[in-house]
Amino acid sequence: MEVVTAVKGFKDILPEETGRWQYVEARAREVFAAFGCREIRVPILERTDLFARGIGEATDIVEKEMYTFRDRGGECLTLRPEATASIIRAYLEHSLHVADPVAKLYTIGPMFRRERPQRGRYRQFHQIDVEILGHEAPCIDGEVILMLLHFLRSVGLKAPHLEVNSLGCNICRPGYRASIQGFLAGREADLCGDCRRRLDTNPLRVFDCKVPSCREIVDQAPGVTDSLCGECRDHFAAVLVSLDAFDIAYVINPRMVRGLDYYTRTAFEVTTEFLGAQNAVAGGGRYDGLVRELGGPDIPGIGFAVGFERLLALTAEDLDDVPPFSPELFIAALGDPARQFAYALGNRLRLQGRRVEMDCRPRGLKGQMKRADKLGCRRVLIVGDREMETRQAELRDMTTGEQVRVSLDDPSSWEYLLV
Ligand code: AMP
Repeated sequence: MEVVTAVKGFKDILPEETGRWQYVEARAREVFAAFGCREIRVPILERTDLFARGIGEATDIVEKEMYTFRDRGGECLTLRPEATASIIRAYLEHSLHVADPVAKLYTIGPMFRRERPQRGRYRQFHQIDVEILGHEAPCIDGEVILMLLHFLRSVGLKAPHLEVNSLGCNICRPGYRASIQGFLAGREADLCGDCRRRLDTNPLRVFDCKVPSCREIVDQAPGVTDSLCGECRDHFAAVLVSLDAFDIAYVINPRMVRGLDYYTRTAFEVTTEFLGAQNAVAGGGRYDGLVRELGGPDIPGIGFAVGFERLLALTAEDLDDVPPFSPELFIAALGDPARQFAYALGNRLRLQGRRVEMDCRPRGLKGQMKRADKLGCRRVLIVGDREMETRQAELRDMTTGEQVRVSLDDPSSWEYLLV
């Protein structure tokens, strides 16, 4: 019979990889806690409407990439393509904002987008996502970017390249939108079908288009920074001051708009030269109108998402601190009484938190040593009939070959060797 395989673009994360995942997650939790962020876990399935309203109807994600279906009750549901909308929904649904409008939240988990799979782009991928609600001050934007870069460096990311921009607010953006519309109007013939179609609904999308002819046009388009209103200009200037205060290097990219509609003011992206075409490892920005858009009061927000797979691809070789999984001790037992003893001792040590393995099948010493070696055990305790009688056995260091005689009745006297 044929083996059923995974769905295209959906990847298994195998045991040999999960240590790295856990290590990166642990660093994220540590760094985010230092900055006062707490974890929130939201469902992966939401009403489709949440994303249509939150992300924007005329975006690639909502138009082309969502996994949307009707469940058996006829409800239209979607596997979440990102976490921000879900987090805000939870924040409003549970009235977290009533007790305290300021909420610093993070979540780590799978997202789903039906993009064309390629290296660094999957249909199920994972994000490390932070959302700070209730703060409007530009120093928070600086703090969020500082936290992001600190986290990325703490897991060994080399040479992160930060680009920042301000996308304006609902006062100055319409003017910019109109100027882009005007700019593109005479160039319609050179735009791809998608961009032409979105000229009226969402002309800023052309900035995210990957089609070369559209890219050429975009490079000549006016940048958003020139059309910012006074308040947005001041806000952006203050964000840059707070980045300077922490010696954070950045490049202002006035043509970076990012793929989701909800961003206002600060937008940022972290790229590296090592990722090829899929070079963004993290991205985020401010979304001061989104909470209201989702039915809540006027509460500002800012957040970012790190692509977990991309981060791991960049740091894989550098994660020396990943805790080892291999057992600390293998108990090789010969004969029934020794095997029973090994079973009892091994499990007792496990209850104390030691990583111990034994072979419960009746096998010769050679086979057991081979297994210990295969599992990468550092030490092996060899127990046979004679050892059961004398209550003493050899503890062998598999890397140096050194042997120490230890007492079977008093494992606590040699446990210090198991490191
Ligand atoms: P976004 O939510 O589109 O701003 O993406 C934030 C980050 O998630 C990106 O910088 C990528 O690192 C990662 N990402 C987005 N889409 C995918 C995908 N299809 N596969 C893998 N990583 C992704």
